[in-house]
Amino acid sequence: MLASKTILLIEDEPHIVLGLTDALQFEGYNVVTANDGEAGCQLAKQTQPDAIVLDLMLPGKNGYQVCEDIRRFDPNVIIVMLTARSQESDKIRGFDAGADDYVTKPFGVGELVARLRALFRRMERRPSAEVFEVGRATVNLSAHQLEVDGEVHALSSYEVELLRFLYERSGHAVGRDEILTRVWGAANPTNRTVDNFILKLRKKIERRPDVPEHIVTVYGHGYKLIL
Ligand code: CA
Repeated sequence: MLASKTILLIEDEPHIVLGLTDALQFEGYNVVTANDGEAGCQLAKQTQPDAIVLDLMLPGKNGYQVCEDIRRFDPNVIIVMLTARSQESDKIRGFDAGADDYVTKPFGVGELVARLRALFRRMERRPSAEVFEVGRATVNLSAHQLEVDGEVHALSSYEVELLRFLYERSGHAVGRDEILTRVWGAANPTNRTVDNFILKLRKKIERRPDVPEHIVTVYGHGYKLIL
């Protein structure tokens, strides 16, 4: 049973808060709730939840802003967005802001619970690691190097942080903006910088850098690491 996991619910519609709280508690989760973004960010800092269910349309700060704020101090917490919209651009913006998944309203409580369970499983399979395999390459983050067919390539600090971030989210599309925020932070270069670093990593990792199989482009969005 997942009795020890805490879920923070940031949602302003009382009936959704009630319904989800009941369902999540029934599944064995601890639930804390906030009905606006400011309070949600505060609670995220205080309670350090395992997952956050975040409504997009909130009074004051909207869900995108809240998601970005939370990602600044907690890059690892699972964030699932609730959106009343289903346009592709909203989903992309949600992923850019750092969401792991989204559920479109109206949704069944069972669907949300299943998504959370799947995300938790995925996280458990992928603990933060210093050594991991990407295709034929063995990456060693703490040693700042990767090895391919017995040949060792050095990794720069930014390459290490970029690989670390892609690995944490492997299997997921990661937006260029999100990469910039996480890897470069205040240094804040341009999207071209991300692309250039991706090209460098492809040359080291991919069998054919022009036809990448592991660091793939997600058109109009960013990149995805496939182990
Ligand atoms: Ca709302």
